[in-house]
Amino acid sequence: MKIPLLQHIANLSPYQPGKPIKEVERELGLKNTIKLASNENPLGPSPKAVKAAKMALKEINLYPEGGGFYLCEALSKHFKVPTDWIILGNGSVELIEIAAKAFIEKGLNSVMSEGSFAMYKIATLAMGGEAREVKMKERTHDLKEMAKAVDKNTRIVMVANPNNPTGTYNPYKEIKEFVESLPESVLVIIDEAYKEYITKKDYKSAQDLIDKHPNLLVLGTFSKAYGLAGLRIGYGFGNPELLKILHKVRSPFNTSLVAQEACIAALNDTAFVKKSVDLNTKEMAFVEKELKKLKLNFTPSVGNFILIDLPISGKEFFEKLLREGVIVRPMAMSGFPNSVRVTISTRKDNKRFIAATKKVLNL
Ligand SMILES: *Cc1c(COP(=O)(O)O)cnc(C)c1O
Repeated sequence: MKIPLLQHIANLSPYQPGKPIKEVERELGLKNTIKLASNENPLGPSPKAVKAAKMALKEINLYPEGGGFYLCEALSKHFKVPTDWIILGNGSVELIEIAAKAFIEKGLNSVMSEGSFAMYKIATLAMGGEAREVKMKERTHDLKEMAKAVDKNTRIVMVANPNNPTGTYNPYKEIKEFVESLPESVLVIIDEAYKEYITKKDYKSAQDLIDKHPNLLVLGTFSKAYGLAGLRIGYGFGNPELLKILHKVRSPFNTSLVAQEACIAALNDTAFVKKSVDLNTKEMAFVEKELKKLKLNFTPSVGNFILIDLPISGKEFFEKLLREGVIVRPMAMSGFPNSVRVTISTRKDNKRFIAATKKVLNL
């Protein structure tokens, strides 16, 4: 490579996605591999979304509606947020990148937890900013310490609630106090990718706070409970003045026509989301029970995944489990070298994961 590199790009480690099933099967000559590495929905997509996507295929000679007006309308109705307070992204990950593009450059910083979603750091470093990682308390965001880490050069604070990969959460009251404690000159991103799964009474979406806080962006996604990770749609709720800035750096047709149509149908398929959440609740209890029998430590999770601590490194466990045809996610990158994150799946898959775990750890 002869093109002179920007130093902050040269130093950047790219996001490491979960291994695709086909690649693992080809590499290791396996069949019937199961992937529990990316928190995808084990029930597949909503059939209604698939039908709508197929219909939309007939029109893919046309550019999509740039801002996704009809999907914003559907989201507006569903979540009771005005249409012009909604922005769409190519996955919610793109909205994190758009925010970093809009507000971060060399000399500025973002604040996040040490054991949180890797994209917060990557998006910040990619803009030449500094990622300030704050230690967690019992694997939960320490919001007081995060607020203390904010200085005059902080432009964004990023909080996943529930958190990935720990599966812990902060109650609404804590989030409210946190947002109120921060200066209005700092963009607060509350990333709620797993909000559909959590059943705790003291949890509520931070969307209720956007009215009072023009510096707040609340993210959601169709990738998890809606089962549409492959279509790439995420959404953000925030003050129109804030969204106006984000729209400046959003690529004009960032979400596809097929994806927009499928998401409108998925939003109306509330039965599918309920089925996904109910399955997760039941299977989470099953996996926890089995892990206890094996005397393996885990962090109790409100998401559709669980962080498990191991007697060997997460990487070694991951490699051994691969040979059993089970893909999990080692978590050294997020600061948990002896842990893996495992997606909660169907009873059949979960049993297979437990059996493979027993085998490779000689339990
Ligand atoms: C899975 C996940 C997302 C969703 O990303 P998309 O780009 O919408 O697929 C966002 N944030 C966190 C913390 C996640 O775990």
